[in-house]
Amino acid sequence: MTTDHGYPAPRLYIDGAWCEGETGRTTEVVNPATGQVIGHVPLATTADLDRAAAAAAAGFVTWRGTPIAQRTAILHRAADLLVSRADEVGRIMTLEQGKPLAEAANEARRVAGALRWDADDARRAYGRVIPSEDGTLLSVRRHPIGPVAAFTPWNFPAGSPMRKIAAALSAGCSIIVKASEETPGTACELVRCFEDAGLPAGVLNLVFGEPAEVSAHLIAHPATRLVAFTGSVPVGKLLASAAGAAMKPSVMELGGHAPVIVCADADPVTAARRAAAAKFANAGQVCTSPSRFLVHESLVGAFTEEFVRAAEAVVVGDGLDEGVTMGPLANERRLTAIEGLVADAVARGAKVLTGGSRLDRPGYYYPPTVLTDVPDDAALMTDEPFGPIAPIVPFADLDEALRIANALPYGLAAYGFTRSTATAERLTREFEAGILSINHCGGSVHEAPSGGVKSSGYGREGGPEGLDAYLVTKRVSHLLTD
Ligand code: NAD
Repeated sequence: MTTDHGYPAPRLYIDGAWCEGETGRTTEVVNPATGQVIGHVPLATTADLDRAAAAAAAGFVTWRGTPIAQRTAILHRAADLLVSRADEVGRIMTLEQGKPLAEAANEARRVAGALRWDADDARRAYGRVIPSEDGTLLSVRRHPIGPVAAFTPWNFPAGSPMRKIAAALSAGCSIIVKASEETPGTACELVRCFEDAGLPAGVLNLVFGEPAEVSAHLIAHPATRLVAFTGSVPVGKLLASAAGAAMKPSVMELGGHAPVIVCADADPVTAARRAAAAKFANAGQVCTSPSRFLVHESLVGAFTEEFVRAAEAVVVGDGLDEGVTMGPLANERRLTAIEGLVADAVARGAKVLTGGSRLDRPGYYYPPTVLTDVPDDAALMTDEPFGPIAPIVPFADLDEALRIANALPYGLAAYGFTRSTATAERLTREFEAGILSINHCGGSVHEAPSGGVKSSGYGREGGPEGLDAYLVTKRVSHLLTD
């Protein structure tokens, strides 16, 4: 069923069936490009969650007992379906999240790649046989951990849920995903791909609800064996504490405030173009978005000039419109937060070189904004901005730049520009972050791990490390008998 906006009505998916919540409670889904309500998402009750947990427990037994070749074939089929539906999934994503259609459809295609990679990698989740000292047949086995409870945000409506679904299902686990109530349509489309690919009932369940209620219930539920979360640091700490209290492991993909260091030997124009492209992708609502631009004082003029040029070349508008390269912010909270950060910086003496106030039109539009003379005590220099605003700060020597870069409690992504391999190696060693890019500001890749240090979380998504949390290691010592 679709609404007047061509937006399909989101549903819960429990034990292989689409359903409304038990009480019929819903919350609105809003198109950030217009501020209009485009749909209603059902909110699960605890009884719905208990059904999902029971389904995941039974689904786990079915799925781990399914031969891996069969599992892999189903996952590849789901990836094929997602690719064939990417344009339609992208359209739904743009309606509910705002990013430009091409970016949204590309996200759907990319996550199909992540699913394929995990599915293939899980075929190599080898154990080992150890020459034992006591003559037993001693081996190490890797088995799926069990039902996973996953909580995902609204900035990557396909990417975030798929990272968790792909790892869980590839490892042989079942999963309950609570995707964002603000972007439920994309999550439903992902689930439909698995359903149509023949995934058995109960292996993948999708719920929406009051986030705090759902997470408290599912984390404590005896069926849940692993907690996976992507979102803000404060919510991550809350969920990690709840998981710890229940002695359950967790993977926490949290926020950052990524520094970019442009060294004295870098090309300032290339650095500015690459950094600006990354900054304004998804309107800056990316946990790894470059967000503090530390530029050597000898280059800061050329870098800033090119960065402003790139910011002004961004075409802001409804993501469904041709030629738009940056959509609105995804919700009103972000708009308020960005307005607050800019007002605070300006009150403390910052200069706005371009942008600096919301667009006068319906929807949650904030233009690419570049600031200089931002003092250290401005909130923008310490709080994750999660929006299209870029403070540019000059530095005199690399020690000082690294001190500023590492001064925050975050440690997710960091970027460096330099022509010197020795300097690049120094940045690699000394940046306190889990994801480093040198001479570019690339996004995440599925063949290598992503994740943070310090308050940015723990555990990794992607690469062989991404499966680690979803597998348990068992030592088996077998005394052979006749
Ligand atoms: P928020 O902290 O309230 O929520 C972040 C996400 O967590 C949302 O998807 C929300 O539904 C979910 N959530 C909130 N409380 C929860 C709970 N008790 N249990 C389970 N899930 C819960 O903030 P927000 O306004 O949605 O986003 C603002 C900030 O969140 C941003 O500034 C950014 O720092 C961070 N964020 C980070 C990422 C990321 O990719 N790491 C993604 C989205 C948001």
